[in-house]
Parts: sequence; C-alpha cells; structure tokens
Amino acid sequence: MDLGLAGKIAVVTGGSSGIGLAITRLLLAEGASVATCARGPKGLADAENRLKSEYGDRLWTMPCDVLDPDQVKRFTESVLNHFGSVDILVNNAGKGRVSTFETTTDEEWREEIEMKFFGVIHFTRELLPVLRRSRAPRIVNINALLARQPESHMVATSAARSGVLNLAKSMAMEFATDGVLVNSIILGLIESNQWRQRYEEQAEQTDSEREWLDRVACEKGVPLGRFGKPMEVASAVAFFCSEQASYITGSTLEISGGVGRFV
Ligand code: NDP
Repeated sequence: MDLGLAGKIAVVTGGSSGIGLAITRLLLAEGASVATCARGPKGLADAENRLKSEYGDRLWTMPCDVLDPDQVKRFTESVLNHFGSVDILVNNAGKGRVSTFETTTDEEWREEIEMKFFGVIHFTRELLPVLRRSRAPRIVNINALLARQPESHMVATSAARSGVLNLAKSMAMEFATDGVLVNSIILGLIESNQWRQRYEEQAEQTDSEREWLDRVACEKGVPLGRFGKPMEVASAVAFFCSEQASYITGSTLEISGGVGRFV
C-alpha cells in the first residue's frame, strides 16, 4: 500500500531517541521531510548524524523544549523558513513519572500535568494555521495505555494521560471542519531510552538489559510476552499520517502487545 507520504512535511517532537527517532526514521524512509526537536543538543546531533547520510536535507533538527512557548514559536518559524509548509504534526516528546498518590508532591503534579498537556498544546497551537493550508493535514498524539488503564505507581502520568486523550477528541471535533485529522496512539511497554534509564536505576546487577525487559514484560502479563519495538509504533503512526487514513479522526489505537484489559 502506498502511504502517499512522499513529499509531505512532518514535525515530530522528541525525535532524538526511542519512539520519536523511529517515527522520524520511518517518515523519512517513506519520502517525507521531517523537522524534529528535543531539549538536548547532543542527543539531537547524534540522531542527525545517524540519519543525515541517508536522508540529507530532508531531515532538519533544532533544539526546542515543547514546554516553552517562545522556543516552540521560534522552532515553527524556522521550520517554515526551511521547508515552507507543514502537513503532519506528531506530538511525541515526553516521558512517564513513577510515583504513587502518597509520594507525589504538588509541584510534581503540576509538572506532570504541564508536561502532558502543554507538550501537545504549544505545538498544536503554533502549527494549526499552517496545517489548515495542507491538502491532507494530520496530528498524531503519542499517548499511553495509562490513559484508559491507570496504574497506581504512575498516578500523575495516568491521570494526565487520560485528560490528554479527552483533549485529543475535542481537537478532532473542532479541527474536522478544516480537514485536520487528529488521532491518538496509546502505548503499553515499548523499548526506549526511558526504559534503559529505569534499567540502569533499578535493575539487579545479575540481569542483562534484555533479561530485565523480558522479566518486566512477564510480570506485567503482556500476552505477546515482550516489549514492543519503537518501529512497531512508528508503522502505526505512519498509517495515521498517510493519505490512506483519510476517514479516521478522533480515534485511539492501542499498541501494547495485548496488555490492555478494557473492551
Ligand atoms: P525517550 O526517552 O526514548 O524519548 C523521549 C524524547 O522526547 C527524547 O528525544 C527527549 O529528548 C524528548 N523530550 C522529552 N522532554 C522534552 C521536552 N520538554 N521538549 C522537547 N523534547 C523532549 O522516550 P520514549 O521514546 O519512550 O517516549 C516517547 C513518548 O512515548 C513519550 O511521550 C512517552 O511518555 C510515551 N510513552 C512511552 C512508553 C514506553 O514504554 N516507552 C509507554 C507509554 C507512553 P530530550 O530529553 O533531550 O529533550
């Protein structure tokens, strides 16, 4: 199936590692141009070095914190100067917070709610007028299974994710008149940098990273028995971004190896 992504211009937030890097790589491989950001210039430069030889000027990067509206504005203006337009926005940047109700401070609640909501709001607000000019505009929000299946050890992330899933539905309804399609992907356990960091912080010395990931997948009862790969998420994102997904908006796709228990 031809996804019709050749010649499209995408903005992917948090493209320096994990899922965002895989999405960036796949959209480039499908012929799109991609502008991506992260806060850390080194991670971004490493990602650029890995992809630039293959995809050349179709990849453009610039450090940007999605929580800083001025930086988001500057990033958007620079993307438009470089590529001229944008067809696709993938709101991916972020990570989860491990804390229970009793251990989460007010400041941590505020940080988490700010991260999850404004990680979507700032870029969407800046790019909406630009997306409206596209022939097939798409927004994809990377969300978590926690939005529908909360975990008490990730209480703030679960609650904030649920709100952002609700927000995506409102965005889909409001933007539909302009043909801007908004969809969400809710993830279970996906191999990425944040899991590597958790392994380095928590794993017993005797476990290799692979053994630890397999054990976590087993303890969580993932029916497919393993973590997902970032590319397995990227494939679904590419579909939502494609010309083929022209009648899909306001929908939510679960990518979790079957660990979701809701119907
Ligand atoms: P990684 O840590 O591998 O990647 C996160 C990316 O986001 C990095 O490029 C990071 O770069 C960037 N980032 C983080 N905060 C900001 C910010 N404020 N502004 C700009 N960029 C930022 O994690 P994942 O690939 O796992 O995470 C991607 C998304 O998927 C996240 O939203 C995460 O919550 C979600 N998710 C992941 C799951 C998983 O199991 N992996 C499960 C459920 C949801 P830098 O730090 O340099 O800014």
